[in-house]
Amino acid sequence: MTVQTIEQFRQDIGSVFSTVEDRERAMKSRDFHWYSPVLTPQLKDCMADVVVQPQTQAEIEAVVAAAAKHRLPITVRGGGTGNYGQAVPLQGGIVLDMTRFNKVLAVEDGSIRIEAGAYIKSALDAALATGQQLMMYPSTMQSATVGGYLGGGFAGIGSVKHGIIRDSGMIQSLKIMTVEESPKIMTLSGADVGFVFHAWGTTGIIIEAQLKLVPAVKWIDCIATFPTYGDTIAFGNAAFASDLDIFLLSAVEKRFAPFYKRTQAYFDGSRDAMFSMVNEKDVDAFFALAAKFNGVRSMAVSEAESADAKLRPIHQTAFNHTTLMALQVDRSWTYLQIVMPDPFTPELAEKQLKYFGDEVLMHHEYTRENGRPRIGGLPLIKFTTEARLNEIMRIFEADGCMINNPHIFKLEDGGRFDPEGRKMAFRKQVDPLGLMNPGKLRSLS
Ligand SMILES: Cc1cc2nc3c(=O)[nH]c(=O)nc-3n(C[C@H](O)[C@H](O)[C@H](O)COP(=O)(O)OP(=O)(O)OC[C@H]3O[C@@H](n4cnc5c(N)ncnc54)[C@H](O)[C@@H]3O)c2cc1C
Repeated sequence: MTVQTIEQFRQDIGSVFSTVEDRERAMKSRDFHWYSPVLTPQLKDCMADVVVQPQTQAEIEAVVAAAAKHRLPITVRGGGTGNYGQAVPLQGGIVLDMTRFNKVLAVEDGSIRIEAGAYIKSALDAALATGQQLMMYPSTMQSATVGGYLGGGFAGIGSVKHGIIRDSGMIQSLKIMTVEESPKIMTLSGADVGFVFHAWGTTGIIIEAQLKLVPAVKWIDCIATFPTYGDTIAFGNAAFASDLDIFLLSAVEKRFAPFYKRTQAYFDGSRDAMFSMVNEKDVDAFFALAAKFNGVRSMAVSEAESADAKLRPIHQTAFNHTTLMALQVDRSWTYLQIVMPDPFTPELAEKQLKYFGDEVLMHHEYTRENGRPRIGGLPLIKFTTEARLNEIMRIFEADGCMINNPHIFKLEDGGRFDPEGRKMAFRKQVDPLGLMNPGKLRSLS
């Protein structure tokens, strides 16, 4: 990209905020791929030429039209919390920061309409104000945007009850903008939202989302502890199969305790633990079930009690926040993303825990897909070499586990791209010049 082209682009977008300041470009060219010691060196030199921050749909349209005119790549960015370099501009060009485009447009009975750059917490707060809530949210809901979650996320807090994003019915419709000199607006609903979901900003710019809302529940943050990790998983399986109203089931073994600094009074490293969010009415039954698997009630606090005691909210201890807490203590850890075989037996959990010893610490998240358990493993791995990391993946695979490799930056390599190529065909329609997040699709690079 020549300096002259970038300046022409900036002139064409007129009053839309843009910057070529080094610090801002560097900051907005990074996401949470630093979790991966494999990706970090690969992406270290990727840098946007210009960052834009539109505030209205008309401003986004001006950016897109000018980008198409000058054939400049566009990397759409929300909060930049993605883990695989999804929001890193591999080929420079424009980082389109959506966070100033953030209005809640309407909250109705059963749905919310919101601009894509809004933080998910704003959507949740707006829903709660009407006695409703989102079906799920990532543990990053305070810093992740609606567009980024739909474009880069997969599941989250609530997925044990409502399913992973793609099978939950959470996305009612999406308004997207095509990338061409005269950008068009399209509205997608039903199965067509799948063209854009988890496409890493390669299949149109999400402008607005209409998300399904459900009645709000008073969730209680709970911790049950167990003498063995096998007991923890046996309880998780039973809790999943029960009719208890549970919003989160996050299992960690006792060696995670040093990373859980703000809950150490309840999880001190002597026992393994299930971190959960449970409907107030079911808390006693939840712990009664835990007792059948040698579990004890360690903590049960409301949101207000948790805040008063300065505890970490349970939703911020789950999914990739677990990994983050470990990395904040010791940067030599990394992680994997695994789908455990169904059924996932306590015996397999114990076998893998013993096999890897101190090299791998076990963490599992319960989610639902088509009514069946879809138990995600997010183990911590003591990183030595890329070759050993790959070997560890093969060992998990030999046990019937499926790897969604988080140490890749090509969309197809993560195991979550549609094999029939329907997304690819749609991509050509909405991005005929191939300007969206170029380099992320192996089939296009
Ligand atoms: C500590 C931590 C915990 C996490 N927990 C979870 C979790 O519970 N569940 C989960 O699924 N993920 C989780 N993630 C991953 C990440 O938070 C989610 O993917 C998140 O929702 C991304 O939102 P974001 O706004 O930060 O997106 P970004 O990182 O900015 O972008 C993600 C992708 O979406 C694209 N994109 C962004 N905005 C748009 C738009 N408007 N239109 C089209 N494409 C767009 C980007 O180009 C990029 O490819 C976690 C990550 C971290 C670091």
